Amino acid sequence: MDAASGDSAFADVLAGNESYARDFQLAGLEPLAAKGLAVLTCMDSRIAPLEMLGLAPGDAKILRNAGARVTDDVLRTLVLATYLLGVDRAMVVAHTNCRMAAGDEDDVHAAVSEAGGPDTQSLAFLVTDDQEATLRADVQRVRSWPYLKQLRVGGFLYDVETGRLAQVC
Ligand SMILES: [Zn+2]
Repeated sequence: MDAASGDSAFADVLAGNESYARDFQLAGLEPLAAKGLAVLTCMDSRIAPLEMLGLAPGDAKILRNAGARVTDDVLRTLVLATYLLGVDRAMVVAHTNCRMAAGDEDDVHAAVSEAGGPDTQSLAFLVTDDQEATLRADVQRVRSWPYLKQLRVGGFLYDVETGRLAQVC
């Protein structure tokens, strides 16, 4: 293994897992979502999806991407969650101070480039300058999708400074 992918890159988290597994409490947990819930939120590391909803492992299916956007992959995953994993309601949770809701697509391409990254013009980062309108449209996309007719869907905004969640739609 080279230095970039070998022990040194992951030593801290492997050690963390060692103590986690030593006192493992989740053996035998059902794969079905116990609360019938799926939560789509941003990859932002300030968000703790289970904790912010008073949930525990086993309660909900958690989906994450940059900006909590309803993409084709999210729709695909929700179909499986709905028909095979006990999900009958879904929350789309955007958050305050989200990089994907500040500025536009070109700003993010420029930021990646300025950070030493490649030209990313061929990627769609799904940036929005109207977070609430985008959230409503994303929720509507799930609601109107023929494969997910019976799924109840809500759109929410999480405040990363107060921990509070507000329903938008
Ligand atoms: Zn975000």
